[in-house]
Amino acid sequence: MTSPTEFDTGLPLDMIIFGGMGDLAMRKLLPALYMAYLHGNLPASTRILSTGRQEIDREAYLAHVEQHSRSFITSANFNEKTWDGFLKLLEYVRLDVQAAPDFQALARASRDGAQRVFYLSTAPALFTTICDKLADAGLVDGHARVVLEKPLGHDLASAVDINEAVGRHFAESQIYRIDHYLGKETVQNLMVLRFGNSILEPLWRAPNISSVQITVAEEVGVGSRAGFYDGTGAMRDMVQNHLLQLLCIVAMEPPTSLTPDAVRDEKLKVLRSLRRFTLADIARDTVRGQYAHGVSGNQEVPGYLEERNVPAGSKTETFVALRAHIDTWRWSKVPFYLRTGKRMQRRSSKIVVEFTNPPFPLFPDAPGGVANRLVIELQPEEAIKLQIMAKQPGSGMQMQQVELNLDLHSAFQQRRAEAYERLLIDVVRGRLTHFMRRDELEAAWEWADPIINGWGVLDEKPHTYAAGSWGPAESFALLARDGFSWVE
Ligand code: NAP
Repeated sequence: MTSPTEFDTGLPLDMIIFGGMGDLAMRKLLPALYMAYLHGNLPASTRILSTGRQEIDREAYLAHVEQHSRSFITSANFNEKTWDGFLKLLEYVRLDVQAAPDFQALARASRDGAQRVFYLSTAPALFTTICDKLADAGLVDGHARVVLEKPLGHDLASAVDINEAVGRHFAESQIYRIDHYLGKETVQNLMVLRFGNSILEPLWRAPNISSVQITVAEEVGVGSRAGFYDGTGAMRDMVQNHLLQLLCIVAMEPPTSLTPDAVRDEKLKVLRSLRRFTLADIARDTVRGQYAHGVSGNQEVPGYLEERNVPAGSKTETFVALRAHIDTWRWSKVPFYLRTGKRMQRRSSKIVVEFTNPPFPLFPDAPGGVANRLVIELQPEEAIKLQIMAKQPGSGMQMQQVELNLDLHSAFQQRRAEAYERLLIDVVRGRLTHFMRRDELEAAWEWADPIINGWGVLDEKPHTYAAGSWGPAESFALLARDGFSWVE
């Protein structure tokens, strides 16, 4: 099906999925691997070994995949013959990660001399035992790669523990810490926009930029994940990883090359320059929210406290808004507003870079507000738009805001891969640039931990907001205080 990829080691590829029956495997990983196969981006030698505890044979596993995974491939991409070919790559290996003999069975199922990619799509509490047992079974060699799903720790100490445990058996260059936001075409495009052009760079700093907003809004509630979510909250689930990674791409200095370490060194500098929050900063510059009963998508939905498996009186936040600062020359005094929440009005992820207004209002009847914004939309659709002022046709000199729309769909007329597909291809080809390095992950926790701990000290209830809204009033006040407002 494929020719060797540029990074192909020439070894047969065994992709080994832990949690091969799980939700992530069914909804994202297998459909992404199918798409990679469909487009010739998997080596012809690929085999996918899915592991799980259930006592089933290969036929039953394939039936499970038919039932739970196939529907996540759009009909435009579905091809019966290709699907059958893809299913031929799949094997099922019954394995309990606590049972050493099961890893011997895995060793027998994996080909001698294969390049092994271990995708750990299980709870992180199992990562240590999986890596130890893989090594004991002789499955880890210099060609092996391991992919780690989030959440990578609960705080700095637990993240260090995971990193130590995985690092005992895999070199840092073999470890792929996945954050699927880094796999989005538009996020990668932001790097090209910033560093592949020279027009933006002189403007990309204080005082030309007055503020940056990053929003990741989900329409869904906590659903069936309450058991996990209540011990986690929005800060750990979204801000510490996805929002900080987006902030790094916006704020980083130009790297000297595109090698993984050159890019990740620059992101690390941003994380280390994030101003630490004192208790007074936390009280003033952060807002925690929790959704209450409301209407979402024309349907009445319960509040967080009424959801199944949420403990009575839980103070877990389902919403966070905060004002962060990056203490560098480039970003001196530029606020970075971060916001994420569940049960928001609609699913919407975007980065908004606001430029300072002209110093002098030359034109009469100029509309108030911000003249120029670069808006990078990540979800539900990916788009890049520049808002600028233009003259309204006719006599007079009246201004109106218009959008320069970088219409990447028409410009390229090319399929855009989903984030998981793109990142899985990166893993297969050995490209680490869009994965987090250990020190990045730990620096993100070093910034997030004092905020989470500070909330514990303050011990306040989160502000409530109606499901289907844009979050609590205090989040709007956070920006209004500085003369800004959220761009929905
Ligand atoms: P899940 O549906 O609960 O699946 C977890 C898998 O772990 C199950 O298939 C289970 O296999 C396996 N497992 C548990 N204990 C095991 C053991 N002792 N031995 C072998 N396998 C064991 O979870 P998920 O939603 O797929 O999530 C997997 C990981 O990805 C989690 O860390 C999650 O936080 C992360 N993640 C998930 C999503 C998502 O959208 N689902 C998004 C981002 C990150 P059996 O029960 O079949 O044995």
